[in-house]
Amino acid sequence: MTAPPPSLWLATLPESLAGLEPAAPLSRDVTADVAIVGAGYTGLWTAWYLAQARPDLSIVVLEKEFAGFGASGRNGGWASALLPMSLASVAHDHGPEAALAQDAAMRASVDEVVARGRELGVGHLIAKGGTVTLARTPVQLERARADVAGEHALGLGEEQVRLLDADQARARLAATDVLGGTYTPDCAAIHPAALARALARGVQDAGVTLYEGTEVTALEPHRVTTPGGTVTADVVVRATEGYTAGLPGYERAVAPVYSLMIATEPLSDQVWERIGLAERETFSDYRHLIIYGQRTADGRMVFGGRGAPYHFGSATHPRFDSDATVFRLLQDTLVELFPSLADARITHRWGGALGIARDWEASVGLDSDTGLAWAGGYVGDGVTTTNLAGRTLRDLILGQDTELTALPWVGHRSHAWEPEPLRWLGVNAGLTTMRLADGEERLTRRSSLLARAMAPLTGGH
Ligand SMILES: Cc1cc2nc3c(=O)[nH]c(=O)nc-3n(C[C@H](O)[C@H](O)[C@H](O)COP(=O)(O)OP(=O)(O)OC[C@H]3O[C@@H](n4cnc5c(N)ncnc54)[C@H](O)[C@@H]3O)c2cc1C
Repeated sequence: MTAPPPSLWLATLPESLAGLEPAAPLSRDVTADVAIVGAGYTGLWTAWYLAQARPDLSIVVLEKEFAGFGASGRNGGWASALLPMSLASVAHDHGPEAALAQDAAMRASVDEVVARGRELGVGHLIAKGGTVTLARTPVQLERARADVAGEHALGLGEEQVRLLDADQARARLAATDVLGGTYTPDCAAIHPAALARALARGVQDAGVTLYEGTEVTALEPHRVTTPGGTVTADVVVRATEGYTAGLPGYERAVAPVYSLMIATEPLSDQVWERIGLAERETFSDYRHLIIYGQRTADGRMVFGGRGAPYHFGSATHPRFDSDATVFRLLQDTLVELFPSLADARITHRWGGALGIARDWEASVGLDSDTGLAWAGGYVGDGVTTTNLAGRTLRDLILGQDTELTALPWVGHRSHAWEPEPLRWLGVNAGLTTMRLADGEERLTRRSSLLARAMAPLTGGH
């Protein structure tokens, strides 16, 4: 397999985690109570919470590459309270009370990730500084106002999300052209790979058996097949997110879309004084083609965005982690936001696949007839959501009715994606629309009609 470009995160793992021995692959038939396919956050949190609750259960995790190889080891490190579906759409489908319960569970999960991160020994790399989302055009400012008004109308308060005027926004993040923005305290900046690797160590310490270098070639009720042996289990958990289409029978369940990132060298204190992010707030703005950033614990600017194409047949491949045009665009956008970074050296460029369900809704569930469980479809909001998924899967697998299992995303089933070439056309049209919509708004100074028309394909609501 072609080696993907190393992410900043894998390259800057704390020594104790960088030196973890790889777990041996599965080389014989085994039986277990629970078999989990995929050692990203979904699989690892599920294993971790199950092992804490029931140390007597036999739990195995099967991972094609190594724990944290996927999006969990490479993301932007926003442990936010965001879901791919808006609060308004959850309220529309399930009622305002259910939507608020889901929202509260997400906000509590941010604190849970921070607390467990500390327990796992990576707390020094985490800061809960919230998120600032800038409005840099009048149209974006309208969108920011509408966002906050809509969320307040649904029952959130100023302590959850608030509007910032230009000075308040600039005081947090002095980008160019800032007209205002929004702020929520419910986000922590984390070191993604450190959390994933610490979790991998944590689950093994808790008695879970991790098999790395073990590709699952078939996932069926009570049975997981790999080249080295078969696992027979009461419950089988699918935790493969952006790579799900590689499993026979799941080709159309989740579409992989690539998000790419760049990182600067550590920046001087003077540069940070000019830019801000004093509390390590994560940041974005109200453009359509998503961008996201964080100030790392070692003083770098990490910045990412979508825009890389979707690949025919939901293909994933290490060479898709890298796209010179997108990397260049990201750097140009970064310098446009912060001209003082014009001469900052870009030391790392990387990317990874996130997973999108046909209706852009994340979900978690267990089919009690087949013993098949799943969680995913997080789009770019999986860091915290996987933690909620892990605790929810624990409760579902243990047969417990809890506050978590009553949340509206539990048991939701998304339709399958269209067969190719429709899927390729649809997903790429959605990505192109987001780019064009920003251009349209720059030209017309009105909210993009294109973005509204294409909302069903792009997760817009
Ligand atoms: C560049 C990027 C930036 C992002 N930024 C953020 C962010 O800032 N905040 C946020 O909330 N979310 C972000 N996300 C999304 C977030 O990272 C993911 O939603 C989350 O990590 C998903 O975790 P997971 O465990 O479900 O999937 P993954 O971490 O992708 O793990 C799936 C694992 O399954 C394994 N696997 C797949 N198929 C098989 C098989 N057949 N057999 C065995 N193993 C298999 C893979 O090797 C992989 O390790 C980002 C994603 C990307 C790519």
